[in-house]
Amino acid sequence: MNEITVQTNSRTDFIDITDAVQTFVQEKNLHDGIVTVFVPHTTAGVTINENADPDVTADLETVLEDVVPWTNGYRHAEGNTAAHVKASMMGSSAQVIVETGRLCLGTWQSIYFCEFDGPRDRRVWLKESA
Ligand code: ZN
Repeated sequence: MNEITVQTNSRTDFIDITDAVQTFVQEKNLHDGIVTVFVPHTTAGVTINENADPDVTADLETVLEDVVPWTNGYRHAEGNTAAHVKASMMGSSAQVIVETGRLCLGTWQSIYFCEFDGPRDRRVWLKESA
């Protein structure tokens, strides 16, 4: 398993980590297989979505905030329930097929680290499978 670090810059932040994952694939000399991207946090997640128009991730943030407002009479005493819920909505892992040493992503797809309780220094675990 390898670990990369991600520095987030605001409470909610979508950070494109595709290049870091591709670099990992090359460093591991993974030619054909699968790479798993795992986020070991309870208030952050990972998703794959459009990279061409930054308004897409901005709209994702808006929709998540509308559906899961920061305050809503939650019970969790730490006060960051919305971040926990959004993290579960995005999920904690993603898998991408690798062929001929390249991530097989759609033309407009990127892998996004999703921060919901930042800013913080975060970790992402990467593991290759043949
Ligand atoms: Zn909490």
